Amino acid sequence: MPLVWALLLLVYAKRLAALWHEPVWRVPVLVVESDDWGAGPLEQAAALTAIHAVLLRHRDATGQPAKMTLGVILAVVDTATTTASAYQRVVFDDARLAPVLDALRGGIAAGVFVPQLHGMEHYWPPAVLAAAQTDSVVAAWLTGAAWPATEALPSALQSRWTDARVLPSLSLPVAEIDVAAALETATFARIFGQAARVAVPTTFVWNDAVERAWAAHGVRYIVTPGTRHTGRDAAGKPIGDGRVIRNGERSHSGVRYPNGERRNSGIRYLVRDQYFEPALGHDAARGLAALARQTLLGRPALLETHRFNFIGTAAAASLQTLDVMLTEARGAYPGLRFMSTEQIAEAMLQTDTALLETGLRWRLRAGLTRSHTLPRFARLARLSGLALPLWIMQQLSA
Ligand SMILES: [Zn+2]
Repeated sequence: MPLVWALLLLVYAKRLAALWHEPVWRVPVLVVESDDWGAGPLEQAAALTAIHAVLLRHRDATGQPAKMTLGVILAVVDTATTTASAYQRVVFDDARLAPVLDALRGGIAAGVFVPQLHGMEHYWPPAVLAAAQTDSVVAAWLTGAAWPATEALPSALQSRWTDARVLPSLSLPVAEIDVAAALETATFARIFGQAARVAVPTTFVWNDAVERAWAAHGVRYIVTPGTRHTGRDAAGKPIGDGRVIRNGERSHSGVRYPNGERRNSGIRYLVRDQYFEPALGHDAARGLAALARQTLLGRPALLETHRFNFIGTAAAASLQTLDVMLTEARGAYPGLRFMSTEQIAEAMLQTDTALLETGLRWRLRAGLTRSHTLPRFARLARLSGLALPLWIMQQLSA
């Protein structure tokens, strides 16, 4: 083997091994992950009912209806009683929000909606309260019209697990994270009658302390964009260590017990890096292309979307796009499976052989296909001539 091939493989060894270890799906899987629903504008009730009807029109090979996981926000500011010095919240099971909660529960009962924890609020209340002292837009948001949309807050303040009253943002005290995580998981369990097992950090900013606190209250899986951000930089942009996260990967965060024993938090990561936002111009073909790409790579297709697509002026067109995308997905993949994100995670954890490949040949094929997604690897393999033996291996494993 030429030295340059050995060097190339050595440089990429860790990343290639990670691709090799990532579970390989043998069936196409699709779930639409939609964030930001819950305590907020009342027009969500009609939007959820309309989405429910569209999802119910589509069934997979096993008779399961199409699924949308909903990243749920459990509380929002009570604009009528909040003052410059005291924050007050309205929780999702308040009678005033009953139409929204009823619509959401109706979809859960029908098997089309699956609630996931997005956060008590889509922000860290003390940070928003502090920001309102100097920012009149934030002040008006806190004490203005009822049920304000969190999408209207400055982006950095939409991160719950960092204090963005100043930039770069500050870490939150661990004790405050523990109290907040305990309250939000208990509130989720009270409202939905089930523990929150999947969490989606708002704006994908979170850290080890959040993972430990969530894990202590039953959260087992965290949806990630394939990396972790832990704060906001001076310009308000999310920042992290840049580490690449793979599906099913175990978090490094540990829990230390009073007797000194250290155990892993048990948290596992999922990767959601495909986007389906019809209001931003993403059409059915884009959703279908994401499904095709993920299926080729032996990965489940977790399509990220948000409530803003389905309320307001874009709603009707977004629903239509969702409907067309699901119709075309079923047509293109007769073996397609609609699963919740928790079901996807459980299948990977238990290596469900009806859904996942364990044979060497298929794993090798998926590993080689996935290697094309590594930055610069495909180009360097081509330049060095390594691409040819890799291609032959890929053909032989087909
Ligand atoms: Zn969100």
